[in-house]
Amino acid sequence: MGLNLVLFGPPAAGKGTQAKRLVAERGLIQLSTGDMLRAARAAGTELGKKVAGIMDRGDLVTDEIVVALIEEQLDSNKGAAGFIFDGFPRTVAQAEALDAALAKRDMKVDSVIRLKVDEEALVARIIKRFEEEGRKDDNPDAFKVRLGNYQKQTARLLPYYSAQGKLTEVDGMANEETVAVSIRKVLDRQNGAKDVMKKGFWARLFGK
Ligand code: ADP
Repeated sequence: MGLNLVLFGPPAAGKGTQAKRLVAERGLIQLSTGDMLRAARAAGTELGKKVAGIMDRGDLVTDEIVVALIEEQLDSNKGAAGFIFDGFPRTVAQAEALDAALAKRDMKVDSVIRLKVDEEALVARIIKRFEEEGRKDDNPDAFKVRLGNYQKQTARLLPYYSAQGKLTEVDGMANEETVAVSIRKVLDRQNGAKDVMKKGFWARLFGK
């Protein structure tokens, strides 16, 4: 069975960067709702037009929109080695919808990794990214809104996932490589646990 991972953290915590490394290293599929929405805008679709203003202000689009995008991707990537959810879920309703969507397909969230970062560092990172990439929602006003939404809505997912025993925290202030190493350790532990479970299963079956 695959390993499904939620990468969790405030905007600019480095989720996208780490997700891309995991895609390269482990053949997991990155599902970034932010990237999907930006692609819809670039393609000029109805959806893209609908979300443009909301995104530029830094507000969240509706749960229905992002849940539908995720379900589409789960279905068009059947047999994948696993998924990395990046920037999704962002509300408790999205987390519940994700659990249901995965359960329907005989999957589940295996692990949630929180990239812990301090806010001042985020502001500095975002100013740099705004200069480099010119993403409209990286301007200081929109970024404040995004950070506020994270604190109001998204942070509530931490108790949701820790109650399920799925949450691990990683220091997101370390450099990119160090963060990647910490994430690898969490995933390897997870895979190890899965192997032990499988061995336990055979041992019970054959009485060894
Ligand atoms: P960030 O750098 O904040 O992680 P993203 O690329 O994930 O940015 O998202 C960019 C914007 O797309 C968000 O500010 C929001 O408007 C919209 N968006 C992305 N994912 C979601 C989601 N899961 N729920 C609601 N809105 C979302």
